[in-house]
Amino acid sequence: PSTESVKVAVRVRPFSQREKNSGSKCVISMHSRTTTIIQDPKNPGHTKTFTFDLAYWSHSGFQKDKDGVFISADPGSKFAGQKEVFHDLGRGILDSAWQGYNTTLLAYGQTGSGKSYSMIGFGANKGIIPNVCEELFQAIENRDKNQEYQVTFSMLEIYNEQVRDLLSRIKKPGGLKVREDQQLGFYVDGLQSVPCENYAQIERLMEQGAKIRTTASTNMNASSSRSHMVITIQFKQVFPDRGLTKQSSINLVDLAGSERQKSSGSEGDRLREGSRVNLSLTNLGNVISALADAAMGKKVLHVPYRDSVLTKLLQSALGGNSRTTLIAAISPADICYEETLSTLRYAERAKKIRNKAVVNTSTLM
Ligand code: ADP
Ligand code: MG
Repeated sequence: PSTESVKVAVRVRPFSQREKNSGSKCVISMHSRTTTIIQDPKNPGHTKTFTFDLAYWSHSGFQKDKDGVFISADPGSKFAGQKEVFHDLGRGILDSAWQGYNTTLLAYGQTGSGKSYSMIGFGANKGIIPNVCEELFQAIENRDKNQEYQVTFSMLEIYNEQVRDLLSRIKKPGGLKVREDQQLGFYVDGLQSVPCENYAQIERLMEQGAKIRTTASTNMNASSSRSHMVITIQFKQVFPDRGLTKQSSINLVDLAGSERQKSSGSEGDRLREGSRVNLSLTNLGNVISALADAAMGKKVLHVPYRDSVLTKLLQSALGGNSRTTLIAAISPADICYEETLSTLRYAERAKKIRNKAVVNTSTLM
């Protein structure tokens, strides 16, 4: 199979109220596929420019329509709303799924940068995940009725290197176990995978999962910014006439905030939590670096997939059998300069990874 690199998109959000109140300056500019960050708006000499596959300007040039949806303020505006982002990234995911490729979308960035906004969305501004699910079922409705389609949905959280099923109210002490199978690779033992017949069902499950995630994080005295959320949709097409099936696994990952954990002021528990979160995210960085080196022809003896839960579950998405997209969410504000630069560098490394996606097809017995 041919290899293809990880597709990388960057998206800059509007100023938050807090940034506005403190008189923040915008340090980001975008021109078609390039994103430029300037260290000091008063001293325009010091800039760094990055080129990714896509750059979404969601910072300015928008208005709200009657339903509360952010849309372009005028035809000349380069503003990209949820619709534009879904148009490229969501459609790409759906096309891959229909063809039988595994596909993964990861949202990376510091807390408050807009990861969940892009992935899930807020209110009328629905994100990529609900839109993908809705369109998947719309397409199924309009397809050949002789074909059979199976969709299952699962939703989990990785917190403190423990896996929690977000579709289950029962919390297993110590979390669910990640096991390895010769054929399947790493999987979560005992994770619910709920068969779904329509979009409304998925919508309900997502709401349920989000609720459990919030309750869990309040109880543990943490915020969802420290946990990773993974939604997996298994999509299977059965073609009885041709005697074959096509299968795709769609992984949608809202990563924990990428900001450096502050070590000061933590009690024992919080400290452990901080370092553990760092472990999964730091190790994701290590895996990405190793794969980027390998793609550039350097000799890489070991890719440390096994060193954290997150990278075990993302193994096939990183350098394996998946078409993978990373969306790097960034703040426009000068006060976030360091974190934003680090996010852009991370994304630049991820861009170098090459995957070998194959169509998952098998014959019916
Ligand atoms: P994260 O998940 O990275 O912590 P959120 O997605 O929760 O960040 O975004 C933080 C805040 O910024 C939210 O109030 C969200 O509504 C707002 N926001 C983020 N991205 C956008 C965007 N593209 N357009 C409008 N508001 C946004
Ligand atoms: Mg979030």
